[in-house]
Amino acid sequence: MKAAVLREQGVISYTDVPEPRPVGDRSVLVRIGAVGVCGSDVLRYGRGKAYHYPLVLGHEFSAIVEEAPAGSRFAPGDRVAVFPLLPDPDDPFTRIGEAALGRGYDYYGSRRDGAMSERLHVPEANLVPVPGNVPLVHAAMVEPAAVALHAVLKVRVPASGTALVIGAGPIGALAAQWLRLLGWTRVLVADVDERKRRLMSSLGFEVVDASGDTVAAVRDLTGGLGVDCAVEAGGLPLTLLQALDVVAPLGTVIMLGDINGDVTLPQPLVSSLLRREVRVQGTWNSKITPAGRSEWEMVVTCLGHGLEVAPLISHTPSLADADAVFDDLVNRRVWYNKVVFAVADEARAELDDPGVAPAAARSAAWSASGARASGEPLGARP
Ligand SMILES: [Zn+2]
Repeated sequence: MKAAVLREQGVISYTDVPEPRPVGDRSVLVRIGAVGVCGSDVLRYGRGKAYHYPLVLGHEFSAIVEEAPAGSRFAPGDRVAVFPLLPDPDDPFTRIGEAALGRGYDYYGSRRDGAMSERLHVPEANLVPVPGNVPLVHAAMVEPAAVALHAVLKVRVPASGTALVIGAGPIGALAAQWLRLLGWTRVLVADVDERKRRLMSSLGFEVVDASGDTVAAVRDLTGGLGVDCAVEAGGLPLTLLQALDVVAPLGTVIMLGDINGDVTLPQPLVSSLLRREVRVQGTWNSKITPAGRSEWEMVVTCLGHGLEVAPLISHTPSLADADAVFDDLVNRRVWYNKVVFAVADEARAELDDPGVAPAAARSAAWSASGARASGEPLGARP
């Protein structure tokens, strides 16, 4: 079978690899439907942040069941989203349903080979059913949507409250949608990128131009008070400082972005964090337990019913172009939002439906005539 193998930093080859082997005794063989590019994948490719090389990337993916063990609740042809974490059964956090807080877990696309390939073996427990009418590229968005949901579930929703998301990349855009779905009365979104602001505005959010003074603008919009919840989804030291600064007394900062550098807290900010009794809440990954009420099942239920993923998809290239795609992303030669490789033939065929992704995103060709030409001027950062 074919896979996009990350050989070393900055080098992916689309090549023949051995067929995948079963994982545990309830292993399901799946064909990859579609696989999204995470910000962390771009770092693994371009900044040497992979656990090891060679490595097949890809932890945000949908699939079609090919072969299931006897007595399985899955049958060939079923569509699934795949929880990419393989829990460490001996870790005490696994026993309380918090597998992602353990240390010894395994992970598709980071610690072991992932979904930028044609097939994969996955434990049955990691599969979440997806209705047959959900496009495969949308089902590949279940993972990031679950990460965003996990983050905003950390805060109790007040009877009347204003939330702010700083950073309108895919995760921030999904977090904003969850905040609204969960009942926050007002959700603001800040970004420096005009195109992302336009997108969020078209989804009905109040947007703030983060190329100016974000904190002042948000205070202006909230009668000087600030917001009850600030979600840091920009991943920058500056955006974390803004989030800490802009929350109202008794407010909460959710640290969702993996900050790309050291953060220095000025003394006056520390002092005001005390005076405002601000709560700072980290968040990591997502959960598929308890079965039947998992974050992943909530995502699947809401897909297309309040949770819109199609507008966030900026490109749907072929896996064969992975090297050129990653090279352009890491060097920021194209404007992009969510890039999802449409791997299975079914996934490619579904791109003919204009509801699956915006017109500009549906070109398979990744070249000067395709992705680069479709992009409007680049934003200041992805
Ligand atoms: Zn990710």
